[in-house]
Amino acid sequence: MANRPLSRRTFVRLLSIGAAAGVLAARRTAAAGTEKLSVKDPAAIALGYVEDAAQVDPKKYPAYVKGSSCENCLQLQGKPGDTYRPCSVFPGKRVAVSGWCSSWTPEM
Ligand code: SF4
Repeated sequence: MANRPLSRRTFVRLLSIGAAAGVLAARRTAAAGTEKLSVKDPAAIALGYVEDAAQVDPKKYPAYVKGSSCENCLQLQGKPGDTYRPCSVFPGKRVAVSGWCSSWTPEM
């Protein structure tokens, strides 16, 4: 088998295929890196995070607004319809849309 030099066109194609594969791999890694926030996480404990807003103790958190949850919080990010979504207060983690923490900020 003879080794032929790559044409410029073939080289550019291979380069673009490699770049596309790199982008896909980075997206998969980013998605895999967003784990669910544990209620036992020190940051979650500090902010009183719960996975079910109905569990919030209003005596402990008097600023709790009835009916508030991650789902209607300004800090919630990601795609509507997902049960767990990223939150700007807990980078790299996903929170339950039914959850709540003391950083709750009403949507505008
Ligand atoms: Fe939920 Fe908002 Fe607290 Fe994030 S900041 S955990 S979205 S209540």
